[in-house]
Amino acid sequence: MSFSLLEILERELVKHYFMINVVKNELRRAFPNVDIVHVGELVQCRLKVLALSQIGSEEEYFKAIRGRKVTPMFLGTIVEHGFRNIVKGRVKVLDHVIKFKKLTLPDMKNVVIVGSPDLVVEVDGKYIPVEVKWSISQAELREHYEVQAKLYAWLFDSEEARVVVFSPNGFAEYRVEAFSDKEVEQIYADWLKKTPRWEWECRYCSAAHTCTARTQEKREQTTAKTIKTLT
Ligand code: SF4
Repeated sequence: MSFSLLEILERELVKHYFMINVVKNELRRAFPNVDIVHVGELVQCRLKVLALSQIGSEEEYFKAIRGRKVTPMFLGTIVEHGFRNIVKGRVKVLDHVIKFKKLTLPDMKNVVIVGSPDLVVEVDGKYIPVEVKWSISQAELREHYEVQAKLYAWLFDSEEARVVVFSPNGFAEYRVEAFSDKEVEQIYADWLKKTPRWEWECRYCSAAHTCTARTQEKREQTTAKTIKTLT
């Protein structure tokens, strides 16, 4: 029998991505004409999210991410699974919890925000979302980790969320407080207008080869350089 152990890991990631898509499609049927956004998408470039949403099948997505095995995302999945198994039995851990909330914006339009944190722990009757991250540099609380965790705390009506960051140089646990409704509105507004969402994002983007914004930006940089050389 021929099999690849690494392929099992890749398929696990794809399965998670498609589970999110299935949930989003169900919510679209329940809330027609309402924007449905996943918490994980709100901390990524919207153009990248749109490009990846064009991939229609699990197999197609699997092919698109092949060859990207040693990325923080893959290592993050391994770390997350290991971490979950270690804390299980010591605290009550809820796996694969999916929750959504409808938010009415100042213009009276609605947005539904859905999310599934890496794990949720129950402590003293309170449910606390936890994100587990793998960072290739330092075990610091990067801005996108913090925004994501604050969104999860808001989504789960929890005062706090935890972020556990592992890196080759150590690991650390951070406690963050929940966003208010107003702050979530602002995050959504920023997400709609800021592409990329973070200045470093294009360097690691899996949709860069098809991105028109990126092509346009490169064209403008080349023109600017040419003008500088001529003057
Ligand atoms: S290349 Fe940059 S702007 Fe284009 S989709 Fe990726 S992150 Fe967004």
